[in-house]
Amino acid sequence: MQEAIKQKRKGMLRLVKSSGTIKSELKPMDDCDNYYKQVEHYAEQIRRTHSADEIIRILDIVLSETRSLKFNDEIFAAQEQVKRAEHKIELLKSELEQLRGLVQTDQMTGAFNRRGLEEAFKREAARADRNAQSLGVVMIDLDDFKQINDNLGHSYGDSVLVNLVTIAKETLRPTDVVARLGGEEFVILLPDVEMEEALTIIHRLQNNLTKSSLLQLNNQLTSITFSAGVALRTFGEPQHSVLNRADQALYQAKGTGKNRAIPAL
Ligand code: GH3
Ligand code: MG
Ligand code: MG
Repeated sequence: MQEAIKQKRKGMLRLVKSSGTIKSELKPMDDCDNYYKQVEHYAEQIRRTHSADEIIRILDIVLSETRSLKFNDEIFAAQEQVKRAEHKIELLKSELEQLRGLVQTDQMTGAFNRRGLEEAFKREAARADRNAQSLGVVMIDLDDFKQINDNLGHSYGDSVLVNLVTIAKETLRPTDVVARLGGEEFVILLPDVEMEEALTIIHRLQNNLTKSSLLQLNNQLTSITFSAGVALRTFGEPQHSVLNRADQALYQAKGTGKNRAIPAL
């Protein structure tokens, strides 16, 4: 027993059967050393990646390894340091999550921006492929927005953009994604829908926007409308390709009278 303790202190534990014959020889991890090596390895991975998602994933692993140190008798004396390390990693992770939210969000409307759309598309496309599901990709452009700005002012125009996102979030499922590509152009991702259902959802959004934006313009009762192109992503299809198809359908919607949704080829 004494021998086992000595060996353990040296970082080498011999498991000896009662008969005296050596059953196996294990080299247990010298946890502290190992921990520091692992952290250095993860730090290197963090330095190499540009993805906030990946950094948060790595921090989660480091956090769980840090927590597991708490249950290790050998570093009992360092419990306070472990607790402090754990706290720092948690703080870092939550700051990073906030930052990720900021860089992926359009500040005016609260919708995702281009970068947020890219991340969301990657996630939803992977899920769709994994589960053999479809993914609806809708390209939206407000109708005659220049006129709205010209007649009612730029800040009114801004409030129209904010209102569209509010109505979209109210109308769509929580799992749907709303992103502003720029200007008065938006993309909506509808996971797991077929074309007919996607068109119904977009018509509902058009109706809700119309109801919420009735206004008097040049002595005429009018409302804010948008045109849309609706594409269903095929298995493995990348973002640029499906957006391109949706954009062509949107172009058709504009050319055939606006305030409509056209399915893409
Ligand atoms: P169409 O129906 O063919 O789409 O016509 P449109 O007038 O909507 O399209 P056009 O591309 O001619 O005009 C878009 C306008 O959107 C021009 C630009 O000033 C305005 N715009 C772009 N970004 C913003 C913004 O952040 N706020 C406001 N208020 N206007 C914006
Ligand atoms: Mg436009
Ligand atoms: Mg427009």
